[in-house]
Amino acid sequence: MELAAPSGNYGYDNIMSWFDNVTENAAMVQRETLRRILELNYGVEYLKKWLGEGDEDMKMKMKIQEMEGCALESLYTSLVPVASHADFEPFIQRIADGDTAPILTQQPITTLSLSSGTTEGRQKFLPFTGHSSQTTLQIFMLAAAYRSRVYPIRDGGKILEFIYSGKQLKTKGGLTTGTATTHYYSSDEFKIKQEKTMSFTCSPQEVISGGDYKQSTYCHLLLGLFFSDQVEFITSAFAYSIVQAFASFEELWEEICNDIKHGTLSSRITLPRMRKAVLDIMDPNPNPFLGSKIEAICEELRGLEWCGSIPKLWPNAKYVYSIMTGSMQPYVRKLRHYAGCLPLVSAEYGASEGWIGVNLDPCLPPEDVIFAVIPTFAYFEFIPLYRQKQDWTSSPTVDFIEDRPVSISQVKVGQEYEIVLTTFTGLYRYRLGDVVEVAGFHNGTPKLNFICRRKLILTINIDKNTEKDLQLVVERGTQLLSKYRAELVDFTSHADIVHQPGHYIIYWEINGEVEERVLGECCREMDASFADHGYVVSRRSNSIGPLELCIVERGTFKKILDHFIGNGAALSQFKTPRCTSNQMLLRILNVCTIKRFRSTAYS
Ligand code: AMP
Repeated sequence: MELAAPSGNYGYDNIMSWFDNVTENAAMVQRETLRRILELNYGVEYLKKWLGEGDEDMKMKMKIQEMEGCALESLYTSLVPVASHADFEPFIQRIADGDTAPILTQQPITTLSLSSGTTEGRQKFLPFTGHSSQTTLQIFMLAAAYRSRVYPIRDGGKILEFIYSGKQLKTKGGLTTGTATTHYYSSDEFKIKQEKTMSFTCSPQEVISGGDYKQSTYCHLLLGLFFSDQVEFITSAFAYSIVQAFASFEELWEEICNDIKHGTLSSRITLPRMRKAVLDIMDPNPNPFLGSKIEAICEELRGLEWCGSIPKLWPNAKYVYSIMTGSMQPYVRKLRHYAGCLPLVSAEYGASEGWIGVNLDPCLPPEDVIFAVIPTFAYFEFIPLYRQKQDWTSSPTVDFIEDRPVSISQVKVGQEYEIVLTTFTGLYRYRLGDVVEVAGFHNGTPKLNFICRRKLILTINIDKNTEKDLQLVVERGTQLLSKYRAELVDFTSHADIVHQPGHYIIYWEINGEVEERVLGECCREMDASFADHGYVVSRRSNSIGPLELCIVERGTFKKILDHFIGNGAALSQFKTPRCTSNQMLLRILNVCTIKRFRSTAYS
């Protein structure tokens, strides 16, 4: 069976039938994928530690080629331990410093990805190879094929993509680093994808990789409107970027319309290469008709609080496509507001470590989206996770009880797992740190529901709350806001253990006027909504103090974004940290706090 996705002239039918084939035989394909990874990389330093050295090494090579798949799988999983990023860090650091020995892969690694780091609190280096760009192209083609069945688009149309490359820098050892999206946007695969899908991004490279996200956003919007009749769909890597772009549009629309009317470019675009590229595309001919038409639509939309902006401004757009699950879920409401009648299509599941799953059901609402694992991309294992029985004896630092990792064919519907990856890029039995639930199967491959990052984010003593728990609590709290026509713009939290008793602080930026009484009620509601038994018990005994709600002034989360971007993060991969102990962030949040409330629940 051909494990590699069709690489020649992709027809959508070709790639879908390839996917059906490899998923029918997912267990066998997984074993062959493991064999290929080990054949390619046998003898690298990391594996030698576990699989043997010298003569042993040769024997192992033979074994890999000849062994029966199941035996190879058991041998590998019995000899190589499950590891975390910290275990790989010293190896990756040596690669970054210029050591070209076969440390993790036989082929020298020349590029490293920087994970966004906004969920983990710090950025991680990860190997990036040609395989990473190829799988990105393959998953995008596969997803496009499934989307085209439900929402066909015109060949040769345009895509309004809110995408942003960060900087590509050099490590001490001369390797290129940057976020995985940055590498992809500057790769051949990004160009190939446009040709193969016959859909072309509105903005040129100079806008995508300009390095100043405010200028890039302006130009994305301007060019998107310039080509408004040709735009087939609107997209970004993570939903946050679309919401951020439309929030900017509410302020910028007059200037943008002016530029279209007069064939000019606002003086806020100061980057010479970006200016030239945009003006070349607009071929600075005044277009008073288009400019005035958009202006009239915007006047009307302003009166509607910009509800349904996307279909009004892009009449041929078929859908909005972006990652809307996990930490992006809080932006779905705002995205719906802008998208009006257009469907929201939730995009694929992956990480800087590698792609994991594809959304095969584009018509599902973002809240219900599940991802079918692609069994050729990596060798996947799943650590079963069981919620701890909550009592005083349960360990405060252990979130789940773990069982032994199982293979793709052994997972059970309804069970939660942490994903473990063995990749072509040199990660072996690597814990990804994401919790997923198996929701069903596509042929023999599991479909996963993304639950959350595994790391506990709010914990003071015996309480344990994940990002998902916090999200649910915040959703409950904000239900009251909607009655007052106010909305939550963004939020984060902090476990304050400096002041005794320790307590949770939730920071909200809101849009609209809300009475203090109502905000006090929101605070109480959130405190009472944490269902974690450890929290409830600790609140009752006052070993955790009343929850504090801090309302921050408008624009605070923009400052946080700017702080991250200033430190080298790329907007395309930005995720607001849902809990922080970062002193700089806490400084911004505390300086910007305009109102504080303490919960009266449990009093
Ligand atoms: P990064 O640090 O940018 O590599 O982020 C990767 C992480 O983003 C993953 O480990 C997930 O926690 C999260 N993520 C990526 N794709 C999705 C998705 N479709 N749904 C939910 N979370 C996602």
